[in-house]
Amino acid sequence: MNNAEKTLIHTSHLHPLQLVTSPEPKPICHACNMQCTDRCFGCLKCRYYLHITCATIKKRLDHPSHPAHTLLFELTPTYDSGKFGCNACGDEGSTFCLRCRECNYDLHLHCAALPHKVNHHSHNHPLSLVYENPNPHSNGTPYAYCELCKATVDVSKWFYRCNTCNFGGHVACFAPNTVEALSPGLQAPAPPPSPIPPQPQAASQVGNVTNEELQMQLIAAQAKAAQSMMVANAMHNAGNTFRYSFDNVQYTTRWM
Ligand SMILES: [Zn+2]
Ligand SMILES: [Zn+2]
Ligand SMILES: [Zn+2]
Ligand SMILES: [Zn+2]
Ligand SMILES: [Zn+2]
Ligand SMILES: [Zn+2]
Repeated sequence: MNNAEKTLIHTSHLHPLQLVTSPEPKPICHACNMQCTDRCFGCLKCRYYLHITCATIKKRLDHPSHPAHTLLFELTPTYDSGKFGCNACGDEGSTFCLRCRECNYDLHLHCAALPHKVNHHSHNHPLSLVYENPNPHSNGTPYAYCELCKATVDVSKWFYRCNTCNFGGHVACFAPNTVEALSPGLQAPAPPPSPIPPQPQAASQVGNVTNEELQMQLIAAQAKAAQSMMVANAMHNAGNTFRYSFDNVQYTTRWM
């Protein structure tokens, strides 16, 4: 990977972000308020950091949990409170979200990025992510216990389930390291030496580019990010193996 490929211009920050090894203690991702993993995108000067997943998620997302409308990326919640309630996990968010304005449907980026299917060593079949209570007659009472932690499952939130066996449970139990799994930094193999000679870096040019040039770079970076997320999404469902293509480097991450 050459230096140009490690730079990302993101709408949320004035300066280009570099793909870096996370400093210690690991910083908090500005998008999701969760701790960054081994590598992240960051502006070292401003101490502004984003998970790789959070920095590169699609800005328009058609998600099966909300088939009626396309979800759009928002930098800040548009509610007066400055917060949104995530329709996936029920928790509040105060920074980036994917949102349907028409329906007030909001998702954390990391919730939107949850794999639609997971393989777990505790079960023979793949588990599917369930977005809606499959048993509406239960009147909202928890109908199921999590097979891993044995606590009740609040079916108003997303959960994982094997439809054949009615086996399943919490997202946090069955996909505990999703954000980590989605960030290729943790277990990424060393990228192969790039055959392409290093290109001029966006970062080093920023000091003397015009606004228009910066705008063009921004659009190009966004298009590129959207493209790599599309590749990532297309490769999402390979069981417990997550393949992630980022800037033409392919990463493979497995979880148990
Ligand atoms: Zn994040
Ligand atoms: Zn900065
Ligand atoms: Zn959420
Ligand atoms: Zn909608
Ligand atoms: Zn559980
Ligand atoms: Zn099963």
